[in-house]
Amino acid sequence: MFDGESCIRCGKYCKFEELKVLPSSYGVCAECAVKIDPNNKPKRMCPQDSTEMRKELVQDQVVIDRCNSCGGMWIDKDELEVIRQLAQREGVASNTAMMVLVLSILS
Ligand SMILES: [Zn+2]
Ligand SMILES: [Zn+2]
Repeated sequence: MFDGESCIRCGKYCKFEELKVLPSSYGVCAECAVKIDPNNKPKRMCPQDSTEMRKELVQDQVVIDRCNSCGGMWIDKDELEVIRQLAQREGVASNTAMMVLVLSILS
């Protein structure tokens, strides 16, 4: 009997009624739903040129800041942690492999 699913972002098992289903049909737990909502993130200025950066949700799991002016990107510590956990769940152990994962998320 399946009465739930693991959160795509943090891996926590949730009942279907607790999951928030994203447009991509992935489900996230209530906690992650709050975390991936760009409106809940503090605005960030580009360290390079002080332009306000644009929030971007990638693969429904990680929110990054992108600068329209110079094309620079910023990943929060929290978001990096999510990427690290994703890497672990996918059996990616080495730093090199993690870099590849990060690049695949950002590309
Ligand atoms: Zn979650
Ligand atoms: Zn910039």
